[in-house]
Parts: sequence; C-alpha cells; structure tokens
Amino acid sequence: MSRFQIIRHGLLVRGRARHFSSVSLADIDHFRTVLPPHAILTTLPTVATAPVAPAELDQYNRDWMGKYTGKATTVLKPRTTHEVSKIVKWCNEREIAVVPQGGNTGLVGGSVPLHDELILSLASMNNVRSFDPVSGILIADAGCILQSLTDYVAPYNHIMPIDLGAKGSCHIGGNVATNAGGLRLLRYGSLHGSVLGLEVVLPDGTVLDQLTSLRKDNTGYDLKQLFIGAEGTLGVITGVSLLTPPAPQASNNVILALPHFDNVQPLYRKVKRALSEILSAFEFIDRAAYDLAVKHGQGRALNPEDVEGAECFVLVETSGGRREHDEEKLTDLLAELLGAEKPLINTGVLSQSPAQFSSLWALREGVTEAVSKEGKAYKYDISIPLAHFKTVVDSTRKHLGVKGLLGDHAVKHVVGYGHVGDGNLHLNIVAAAYTDEIQDALEPFVYELVSSYRGSISAEHGIGAMKTHALHYSKDEVSIALMRKIKAIFDPRGIMNPGKVLE
Ligand SMILES: Cc1cc2nc3c(=O)[nH]c(=O)nc-3n(C[C@H](O)[C@H](O)[C@H](O)COP(=O)(O)OP(=O)(O)OC[C@H]3O[C@@H](n4cnc5c(N)ncnc54)[C@H](O)[C@@H]3O)c2cc1C
Repeated sequence: MSRFQIIRHGLLVRGRARHFSSVSLADIDHFRTVLPPHAILTTLPTVATAPVAPAELDQYNRDWMGKYTGKATTVLKPRTTHEVSKIVKWCNEREIAVVPQGGNTGLVGGSVPLHDELILSLASMNNVRSFDPVSGILIADAGCILQSLTDYVAPYNHIMPIDLGAKGSCHIGGNVATNAGGLRLLRYGSLHGSVLGLEVVLPDGTVLDQLTSLRKDNTGYDLKQLFIGAEGTLGVITGVSLLTPPAPQASNNVILALPHFDNVQPLYRKVKRALSEILSAFEFIDRAAYDLAVKHGQGRALNPEDVEGAECFVLVETSGGRREHDEEKLTDLLAELLGAEKPLINTGVLSQSPAQFSSLWALREGVTEAVSKEGKAYKYDISIPLAHFKTVVDSTRKHLGVKGLLGDHAVKHVVGYGHVGDGNLHLNIVAAAYTDEIQDALEPFVYELVSSYRGSISAEHGIGAMKTHALHYSKDEVSIALMRKIKAIFDPRGIMNPGKVLE
C-alpha cells in the first residue's frame, strides 16, 4: 500500500505509521524451513503449501466482539520457543509486523491485526512444563488454555490464581499479556504478584529466559513486569511460571438482592467485617445486567419474588478451610442482614449444592456473553471509586437519551456490572449496531467522566487498539514518554503489535 493511499484512507494514524512489509511468497518459503506445512495457514497462492480460503482465517482476523477485523494473509502456529524465535527474527529483519495471538478473547481489539500483519498464534504451544505440588509453582507454555491449567492442578488440590468468563478459550500467555484481573483478584491479587517468571522472545528473536521459580529474587530490575500487561507490544511470551494457591476446602456463594445501589458500599463494609479471611469475591450486577443474563439463559433465574424491587445484585463468595465454619459465618451474616431494622438487602439466595453454586456464578460470569448476544457492545472497563458506579451508568444513559440515541434502533441498554471489591466497573452500552453517532456520543464523554473521578480508563482489559487515543486520560505525559522509550528499546523497528497500546 502506498503512502498516498494510506493517508487518503485515513489509516496513517495506526499501525502503518511505519512502512511494514506484507508477507510475501518468499517469506512463506522461509517459514516452511521453520514449521511443518500444517502450521502455516496462508491465503497466498503457494505451490508447496495449499492456500486456505480467506474465510478460514476469519477466526484469527476477527475479534471476539466482532468489532475489529484484520486482513492478515498468514497465520503461523509454532510449537516451540525456538520456532517462535526464528519466525520473529525473520520478521524483524524483513520488517513484517507481528500480532501475537492467544485465545483471541481480548475485549479491546488488541489480538487482531489492524492491517495485514502476520498473526503468530500460540495455540500449538500448549504443554505444561512442570508442576511442583509442594510449592504450587506451575511452569507452562504460553498457549495453555486457562481452563486446562485449572483442570491440571486440581488433582493436586491447587487452583489457578486467576479465573474469568473466557477461561475455556483464553490462554495463560494472553492473560499475562493483558494482565487480566477477573474473579479471583480480590483474594489472590494481580498477575504482577502471581507470575514468578516469564520466557519471552524479543522482537529481534533473542530469547529472554526469566522463567525462574523463585519466590524471592531482588537482583536488580524486575524485567518480567514490563511484559505483564504489555499486550504483545514488547515481545512474545512463550512460557509462564506462576504460583498457584492451594484449593480452598470449601466454597460457598450467595446472591443478594439490594433495593438501592446506595446500599452496596455499606454492605461491602459489613460483608468484609463479617467474613474477613474467607471472603473471596464480591461481584456486582445492576438490574439491567441481571435481566440480560437471565434473558440469554446464563445461570438460573432467581424466583420472581426474590428479585422484585431489586435495583442491583451482589454475589458474595467464600473460600475457606472448613465447610461448617464458613457456612455458619455466611448464614449468621445473612440473618444479621435480613434481621436489621433497615435491611440493606431484600433477600439472599444461598447455594445449597455444587450445581446451584455454578448457577449463581453463571448469572454473573454470563453477563459478558449475554451482552454480546443482545447486540453490539461498546465496552468501558473502568476503575472508579465504588460510590460513583451508579452515577457513571446513569449519567451515560441520560447523556445518550439527550442525544436521542436510546431505543431499539440505536442504544438498547446501558448496563453496569463488575468487580466491586476491586473498584472495577464494566460499563456496557448495548446497541443495535456499531455507529459513528453512538461512538461520538460516548467519547470523550465517558473518558472525561472517568477522569473527573481520577479513575482509570482501563481497569483490566488493556488498551489494545480501542483506547490508544484515550491513554492520556489515565497516564500523564511523562509516563507516556517513558512508555515510548521502553517500546523503542525493546522493539526499535516497531514490529510488535503496531497500533496497540501506543499510537
Ligand atoms: C466472556 C469474557 C469474559 C472476560 N472476563 C474478563 C475478566 O473478568 N477480567 C479480565 O481482565 N478480562 C476478561 N476478559 C478479557 C481478557 O483480556 C481475555 O479474555 C484474556 O485475558 C485474553 O487472553 P487471550 O489468550 O484470549 O488473549 P488474546 O485475546 O489472544 O490477546 C490479548 C492481547 O494479548 C496479546 N497476547 C496474547 N498472547 C500473547 C503472548 N503469548 N505473548 C505476547 N502477547 C500476547 C495479544 O497480542 C493481544 O494484545 C474476558 C473476555 C471474555 C470474552
């Protein structure tokens, strides 16, 4: 593509600020010296490797939300770190831009190309390298699916320190690259703490081996931290060492229906005090989000009388060492809440079996899925003080109303849900279609609102392609300048996931 065309189509802003090479037949010939034929998916008309139909690359080119679509002609699926290194080295020399891809469940358009970058899928790097049942340290290939790692450590009575709705598809490498938060962050902290070491292929093909399994290592700069949350812009994560916690002996959950949002904060304080060390999740869904989850069959709906008059819901999970002890604490809490003179909750539904436990969780975890089934979602994943959660949802709805954009033809729902315990709200605007009108109404409106509370425009999903233009709402000039310098040190040719995180 010539520079003139790039400017004419307004594409210069992202990804093609530098002139990257497109993958050529000569490149495919080279990749054939590194990978077996079945690990090369290309639409290019090669003789030796049968070209695939463009539609076969759709699952790699299109993101989970159906919002971003790349034009990659080639997907490579290496099986070893050595193969990744050879591919990336070649791409660096040829100035071919590379998009590392895990399970492609990211929600900010970071995992798909913006143009015709090469997609490097880690899906075939999916072996557990080692697990030490004494320390709980797991070392795995980056392409291991989160659920399969959860299943792997379960017989040793361990769990993964991270859990999220996309666990059946997302990779541990993708989780680390996005610094995913999820449902267990309240209890086990962020991946910045659980990840002990990484193996990373740098953009020039060098393998940075920091795959340590040490709990303590204060030997200078902690380089691995830079790759946690870098969204594939600094290198390709090929191996992950992380600390898995012992599985709790007992887990319980309860869903609480609240008459008013204002009750969430005092409820959180009460729950923390009453459950202390066994509290493992405190998740929030507003009424609109609950109704969508039920509509799209996520979990089992609560009885109509239990949800009558509820403005929002909170899911509380406990994980502890003794079932009787935990159940007693939870039932005492419920009795106290329901018996209060001015109850903070209308009702509480306590799970009585593993099936009910999963069903209550499905109501919360299934909101993301339900939203995507209902329409096209504009997703804002923000950190703000809990007290302002409702204001942000209500103000956004009001703002869209003033702009005449509410209704089945445009914005169908404005919903809020998220990880209250972490101060993280998912504000989702569900529309009939993605349109410029809605986009312009939402931005910079939402970012300015978040900024007014000194919040973060991305609590856990990352920046990807979606929020590069808005980074300044959460990072000052000094920080952004340093980020650019770091990017230039690791990736002077800018081949790694261009147009993501930094414009
Ligand atoms: C239903 C659903 C629920 C979700 N719930 C949560 C949640 O609760 N909390 C949360 O934080 N997120 C959540 N997410 C989004 C979350 O970011 C991703 O699901 C997950 O962490 C991404 O992993 P992935 O393997 O799919 O990565 P991808 O989507 O493939 O990639 C994401 C980013 O990481 C980069 N990347 C991927 N693998 C590598 C690698 N090996 N080396 C370098 N870079 C790499 C990509 O280039 C891209 O920039 C959810 C998504 C869905 C669909």
